Amino acid sequence: MDGVRVGKRNIGADAPVTIGWENVGRVQGGRVKRFIFTWFQPAMLFALVAFWYYAPNSIATASTAIGIGIGFKALLLALEWVNPRYDSWRLTWKELVVDLFYVSLGYTFLAVIERYIGSDAVIDAIQHQFDWDKLVWFLGLPLLVQAFLISFIFDFGQYWMHRGMHNWYPLWLTHSVHHYITQLNINKGAVGNPVELFLIGLGIGGFFDFLPRAALLAGSIGLAVATYQHINVRFDTPRWWRYLFNTTEHHSLHHSQDYEATRSNYAGTYIFIDRMFGTCVDGEAELLGMEGGRRMSIREQMTYPFTEAWKTMKARFGKGQPDQPELVPAE
Ligand SMILES: [Zn+2]
Ligand SMILES: [Zn+2]
Repeated sequence: MDGVRVGKRNIGADAPVTIGWENVGRVQGGRVKRFIFTWFQPAMLFALVAFWYYAPNSIATASTAIGIGIGFKALLLALEWVNPRYDSWRLTWKELVVDLFYVSLGYTFLAVIERYIGSDAVIDAIQHQFDWDKLVWFLGLPLLVQAFLISFIFDFGQYWMHRGMHNWYPLWLTHSVHHYITQLNINKGAVGNPVELFLIGLGIGGFFDFLPRAALLAGSIGLAVATYQHINVRFDTPRWWRYLFNTTEHHSLHHSQDYEATRSNYAGTYIFIDRMFGTCVDGEAELLGMEGGRRMSIREQMTYPFTEAWKTMKARFGKGQPDQPELVPAE
């Protein structure tokens, strides 16, 4: 792999990363503590899946999902307080303000999408123009298999979209803002330029109105793992778990200041997709971000893709022979 291009200057060449699970940090403390921080992630996921599997229809609604999501996040926030992975990632007011801005932006975005999908025209299109008979085989599968397939298909799409973002300059511009974060915590998944939100949505492959229950199950698996992925908690992750799922350790490498290390672990949920395509790297990193960990203001996060694109275009087409690196990073 050669070719940084998207600003070799951006990459702190000597930022240390840890490679290999045997070198990743362990939970410090007594037996009970180690037990809790080994089994918390699987137990919570299992509880969520069991809930959505068995809950009667009257309870299995989007508002219940939002309520559970808030409770889940509150619990994880407490864990970050009690057992942080790195003290340097502890939440500050400055970080919290940025996080809350993006979390509310995300909810607003979701509300708009939901209104669109709930509109008469779209419902009509789903009911009349979509050939439901083609899905009969799918709806005949066991619920958990349906849920797994939905989340796998979504994640497969998102893997390639994310990998594309790291390999094609115009897409990279939208995603780069997310890589300027300098710490991980449960809300950091929401931080990035809004254009990226839209593209990730596309990568997910459009919206299919599958069996709602299977979709709720798939959504809760995807969201739980995505939240774990940015969490600042030290876990002793079971081996099978880190083989299947993307973890905060994997994702910290992806966010590290080491360029080579960032070109790994693209999946949102299932790290085995990275293992399939040879992009998985097991390990972790503490020093995160771009340009040696330069923090961006919200204003810059909003405008950066556009101002950078403008600068690049001016350099390329403006002055004949620009002193400009190639734009598309090679794989
Ligand atoms: Zn990325
Ligand atoms: Zn991230």
